[in-house]
Amino acid sequence: MPLIIAHRGASGYLPEHTLAAKKLAFEMGADFLEQDIVASRDDELLVLHDVHLDRVSDVALRFPDRHRGDGRFYARDFDLDEIRTLSAWERMNADGSPVYPDRYPAKSGDFGFNTLAEELALVQSLNAEHGRTVGVYPEIKRPAWHREQGVDIAPLLLNVLADFDYAATPDQVFVQCFDAAEVTRLRKELNCPYRLVQLVGYNSWSEATTDYDQLWSPEGIRALAETADAVGPHVTHLFELNNVDSMPVVSDLVGVVRDAGLLIHPFTFRADDLPPGFHSFEDLVEFFVDVVGVDGLFTDFPDRVRALLQE
Ligand code: CA
Repeated sequence: MPLIIAHRGASGYLPEHTLAAKKLAFEMGADFLEQDIVASRDDELLVLHDVHLDRVSDVALRFPDRHRGDGRFYARDFDLDEIRTLSAWERMNADGSPVYPDRYPAKSGDFGFNTLAEELALVQSLNAEHGRTVGVYPEIKRPAWHREQGVDIAPLLLNVLADFDYAATPDQVFVQCFDAAEVTRLRKELNCPYRLVQLVGYNSWSEATTDYDQLWSPEGIRALAETADAVGPHVTHLFELNNVDSMPVVSDLVGVVRDAGLLIHPFTFRADDLPPGFHSFEDLVEFFVDVVGVDGLFTDFPDRVRALLQE
């Protein structure tokens, strides 16, 4: 049975990365809860998807003068105490319109931001209450950029995980990153005791200096298996549309990944944003579970994936 990784929590229903979205994902039957990790000015690890705050909060209203030259409001320019005063909102586009119009109402709700430590405390208390073990799946966001800003996230992350005794139960943690140099460093220099997931995007995303064209090739995948335990590719890396009827067919590289011994945890399964070639969420999940044979999947809708897996 593939692992259900709640992508930013049950983010199809509640604003991403709020503790409420994580609690809901737990209740919906997720196996792992995802945390994106960004640092505040006072070097606190926040659970936040972007290095910016402006697409998911009221920061521009509350602190109108605190943007940088590009007009963006960076979490790194605010202390945790200031970030705690913000409202966490459903994700917006640059013009303030909702990214997903059918999700939680825009610019509303009584939600805030939290630290990684606060989320880990929540997960462990839910595990104890419910007698279930749901794991955690932190992503180090833009490690090279953070170092330029004077903070090194990876060692801080490993310290917080150790504070919560995860080193004693390393199977409850996957650590993920888009930056291949950081994944190698985690394994070889920082002796990360957890399973490592190399995320695979596209070079056009500018997430890292990693060359994803090289990485997502037979040679790249085989080399990756020396440091990583799993790959986290975008769903579109795993299939092609055939020329005749545009039906999805499994990419040849899936076999290379399997032969290299890597787990496959693709992102992101969204009922309200299907990739090309798929006409329903059910078809999408069925193809990836039954035909591709993924080991886990990142989804904004953990309840719907759980229901499909139980069928
Ligand atoms: Ca992520």
